[in-house]
Amino acid sequence: MPAPQNDARRAALVKGASKAKIKALINLSACTGCEVCIAVCPVPQCIEKFGEDPSNTGVWVNYDICIGCQLCAKDCPWDTIRMVPTPTVAMDQTSLDSQLNHEHAVFQKPELVPEEIRGFLTKAPKTDPAVLELFGKNNPIVPGPMSPK
Ligand code: SF4
Ligand code: SF4
Repeated sequence: MPAPQNDARRAALVKGASKAKIKALINLSACTGCEVCIAVCPVPQCIEKFGEDPSNTGVWVNYDICIGCQLCAKDCPWDTIRMVPTPTVAMDQTSLDSQLNHEHAVFQKPELVPEEIRGFLTKAPKTDPAVLELFGKNNPIVPGPMSPK
């Protein structure tokens, strides 16, 4: 269980996270909101859930405190997280911003990210078949949120 946050601890986290070379990017088209990533993330309040409706739920990552540890990406049962270079999300505060803002560097400069995930970045994940193929989730709205990969 992560330690609770206070101002001093958050400041320390932000300082540490500023040195991270990679950050976690969530594929919201496939995220089931199962909260496994929240459970494994060592940074308090780094990942937060939105939405209670199963058809419109997911999580987003606070980039200012994500330390790039990759634990969420390794443990996500739905394989909906990719680690991306920090410069690609530098203008966003959250992973949610990075997907909704197509003017962001993460979309404008796909050459900044590994080739295998460029398709993920060129269109909105919710409408991009390449994203669904990449993540292997043709039906992102899946009941039973704790089912394995
Ligand atoms: S573990 Fe994966 S599917 Fe579950 S909430 Fe996190 S990103 Fe979404
Ligand atoms: S990479 Fe680590 S710090 Fe960042 S969201 Fe995932 S588990 Fe949390």
